[in-house]
Amino acid sequence: MQGGLIMPGFELMGPEELKEVMEVMETGVLMRYGFDSERRGVFKVRQFEEEFARYCGAGYALGVTSGSSALKIALTALDVGPGDEVLVPAFTFLATWEAVLEVGAIPVMTDIDETLNMDPADMERKMSPYTKAVVPVHMCGSGARIDKILETARRHNLLVLEDNAQGCGGSFSGKKLGTFGDMGIFSFDYYKTMTTGEGGMVITNSETLYHRSDEYHDHGHDHNPKVSRAMEGRSILGFNYRMNELQGAIGLAQLRKVDAMIAEQKKNKAAIKGMLSSAKGVTFRELVDPQGDTATFLAFNLPDEGTAEKFQQALAAGGVDTVCYKRNAWHYLPNWEHFLSQSTANSKKFPFSSPMNGRTVRYDRQDIPQAEDLLGRTLVMGINIRMPQERLAAIRQAIEKAADVL
Ligand SMILES: *Cc1c(COP(=O)(O)O)cnc(C)c1O
Repeated sequence: MQGGLIMPGFELMGPEELKEVMEVMETGVLMRYGFDSERRGVFKVRQFEEEFARYCGAGYALGVTSGSSALKIALTALDVGPGDEVLVPAFTFLATWEAVLEVGAIPVMTDIDETLNMDPADMERKMSPYTKAVVPVHMCGSGARIDKILETARRHNLLVLEDNAQGCGGSFSGKKLGTFGDMGIFSFDYYKTMTTGEGGMVITNSETLYHRSDEYHDHGHDHNPKVSRAMEGRSILGFNYRMNELQGAIGLAQLRKVDAMIAEQKKNKAAIKGMLSSAKGVTFRELVDPQGDTATFLAFNLPDEGTAEKFQQALAAGGVDTVCYKRNAWHYLPNWEHFLSQSTANSKKFPFSSPMNGRTVRYDRQDIPQAEDLLGRTLVMGINIRMPQERLAAIRQAIEKAADVL
């Protein structure tokens, strides 16, 4: 089991979630729309959206089927499509890149810096006349330099979509991650900080972008409250990315636990960070705002790749698993052989084969030197909510023993 690397929403799945789910089951209405007389006033997805928007300090929130679909919906709402380029960091989960291809645009690779998130300076270097949007990702629960990224984007008239799938509850200067850009997205899959099994959220302060998202995610339905579902108006085609009532119910209960989850993780992370700080040559990932960290992961650096590998093996021998993302199959672009061979799910390899603007974009390790260096000598440890004293003691022992190889 790769337990150490799963973010921990599921650790607290309990009676609170069960109670919310039972309220849905008692009505028998599993769909968020319609069935107004049968549902007896129970609107779990709608309530989840309202509470989530309030929690984030966002004007609007839309519950959807996944973080991946949230990315696609947001890019669609922002009118990113064929002929456009989108700046995406080389270190992120594959979904960020797939979403850009899903809307027919071309993703362009940007480097990361010591925050392990998008480097604002490289973002500026990688722009072209076709760049329409930028998708900073708050990886591993800690924020990107969102102030710099936003300022740079505004200067170049680019749209900003924050991929905050991994940073739910995190903040920068007291403002929640996901609320800085034109839009933000979250994932509630089973690996994420809070979970609904599968699910996602789109947030924005723009009424227009919210309505475009809302319509697109439900076949164009304008959700006019004055008419029945069958009589609703429509102005754009869409698809089905609707969240269901069971997900909404679980989301409500999980959301109420997020701050407590983060507080526990912070305690555990601080304890382990303390154990590691005496190990020779170990330094830590730069956190743009330590207070706003969700503490789902602890990332630390070794002086070089060889030492990192030795230390990783020594920790593993002591029962402590870490990830070196340079060698990870799903989170680092140079390792995506299917992406590099442009194997989109259509045999014509669209949009790579006909980008509409005629420009060819390359995806070469040489263009991301900081990611190549940093990710090779960074080890990432998953932090759990429940880390009893015995577990922390075992980790301390493993670290002390492993430190011998340094
Ligand atoms: C998990 C994740 C997604 C996709 O979310 P799903 O709900 O699994 O579709 C997108 N971006 C990042 C950075 C993620 O970690």
